[in-house]
Amino acid sequence: MPVTGQLYILSAPSGCGKTTILRQVMNNIPGLAFSVSHTTRQPRSGEKNGVAYHFVTKEAFTEMRDTNSFIEWAEVHGNYYGTSRQAVADQLQNGQDVFLDIDVQGAAIISNDPDFDPVSIFVAPPSLTELERRLRGRGTDSDETIALRLQNAAKEMDAASQYQYLIINDKLADAVLVMQSIIIAQRSHSSRLPDGTAISLETDT
Ligand code: 5GP
Repeated sequence: MPVTGQLYILSAPSGCGKTTILRQVMNNIPGLAFSVSHTTRQPRSGEKNGVAYHFVTKEAFTEMRDTNSFIEWAEVHGNYYGTSRQAVADQLQNGQDVFLDIDVQGAAIISNDPDFDPVSIFVAPPSLTELERRLRGRGTDSDETIALRLQNAAKEMDAASQYQYLIINDKLADAVLVMQSIIIAQRSHSSRLPDGTAISLETDT
């Protein structure tokens, strides 16, 4: 019997290493897909359209929003972000487990939607002091931007208790292992093998 994939929500304050964890997990475990969101923000250097995001104009975004093309959408740091209904449905139908990298507002919308039964994961830094050290270490942000990100991080971490799983990204390898364990446990929970394929038990003797 074909399996339908599991939807995962992944949220984290910026700078927590969520993207790195997910990339490693996707390399290690088959059957995972990333949902590419639509956004009105400008591409950062090196970001290709259709890979991290579909970069669209405000008009195109509004049109998609008004035609119910998004499962959820939100304004984050002054830009709009939305999750495509059709793309996610197709990936799930293909039997892939789909990861949504979305903020806490979008996570709340999907968690309260009766059409979805997502597994939600929050990635947090070991401390705000460590997050500040990592943000400064990247050397890409001004003092003002770092202060704003830390302020936002503190707010986002207030929502962590609403998620089913919490991963503290202290050591990357440990965080990857925890996320993989969640996925494998979830697959076993829904009669699937660790690689995501369906288990069919022989009951005839
Ligand atoms: P960035 O622009 O730094 O890639 O992402 C900024 C924030 O927007 C992150 O917290 C990210 O998780 C969130 N985000 C990305 N795509 C979506 C989306 O489709 N919906 C919502 N609600 N948030 C998103």
